[in-house]
Amino acid sequence: MKRILMTIFLFLCIGCTNKELITTIIEENDNNLICINYPNTDYKKLNDIIKLDIDNIYNDFKNKYNNKDELNIDYKINEFDGFINILLDISLNSSNYVKTYFFDINNNNFLNINDIVDNNSIYQIKNNLVKENINIHYLDNYINKLPFFIDNDLNIYINSNNKTIRKNYSNIDYKIDLNIKNNYAKVNSYKINNKVLDINKKYVALTFDDGPSIYTKEIIDTLKKHEVNATFFILGNKVKPYQELLNESLNNGNILGNHSYNHKWLIKLNEDELNNQIIKTNEEIKLYTGFTPTLLRPTYGSVNNKVKHLNMDIVLWTVDTMDWKYRNVSTIVSRATKNLKDGDIILMHDIYKTSALAVDKIITEIKKQSFELVTIPELKEIEKLRNV
Ligand code: ZN
Repeated sequence: MKRILMTIFLFLCIGCTNKELITTIIEENDNNLICINYPNTDYKKLNDIIKLDIDNIYNDFKNKYNNKDELNIDYKINEFDGFINILLDISLNSSNYVKTYFFDINNNNFLNINDIVDNNSIYQIKNNLVKENINIHYLDNYINKLPFFIDNDLNIYINSNNKTIRKNYSNIDYKIDLNIKNNYAKVNSYKINNKVLDINKKYVALTFDDGPSIYTKEIIDTLKKHEVNATFFILGNKVKPYQELLNESLNNGNILGNHSYNHKWLIKLNEDELNNQIIKTNEEIKLYTGFTPTLLRPTYGSVNNKVKHLNMDIVLWTVDTMDWKYRNVSTIVSRATKNLKDGDIILMHDIYKTSALAVDKIITEIKKQSFELVTIPELKEIEKLRNV
């Protein structure tokens, strides 16, 4: 019997921007709000089953819910030598359940808890399940399908009555070697861009929400080419996989802001959940980049008193490109640059190819109209300077 081995590998993310690491789907319409984030691994069989499950949940939601209902799917992933464990946390309005996958890379198949946990531990888990009113006659069948996620401990999940109960086991013996591959924080020290701001010039700010994604690299390269900067409002659950890219972006002088951890509709959350969304995101950004965010862009642009009283500067926008809807470069360019005025904040999303493609033309047009492009903190600084 082998205890879990906590070997930490320095995982180098070379070339990781060539593949979409996390798929993000965000939809907002009159009927409902949807945000789905799930990882793309190197393993087709695993990706296919996750995609199938996500499609089923998505279609089911679209068919049954239409009264400003909210579907949110978040993920956790843990990679071991030879194994990948993924958890999907599925929330439908205020109810939730989890699905988990434990994939054996070498054998290209899925393992259940019986395959990896020794018999004594299974016995202990079964006893606890009976205490949770799981019918003893269905126990063997139940345990084969039991959702579990291994971090430092074994976490098992009981999906019941619209909520999930998590049971934590810290002293489990495993039948297999579980060497955690840890994508460890590499904190850069980046330079602060001290740009001289002339209050007599005209300024606008470009902002990007919902990323990072496979398209973010192209955007930061385009910004660099034009020697300008933007502000990226990012999701906390994407910070770790995209840490290299975020450090590069900061090094180029761009600013990171908080756009919640997993894009839940903030005004629907209680105080604890709301604080958690903000704090967890700030912590992830600080841990993986060394940068402390002070700006918050609330999800779906919705603000209530609880959101206002978070200790963050709320940043909305004045120009909505609706680039998520108009996946057409010239439409996006025209919406971003038509009728621009001093102090405008332009909203875009760095999760669409057409948005990334539009950035070059947008910057050229903004410069042609004699505006300077700045970050949100710079825009705030200009306001301050003008009010002195
Ligand atoms: Zn958003």
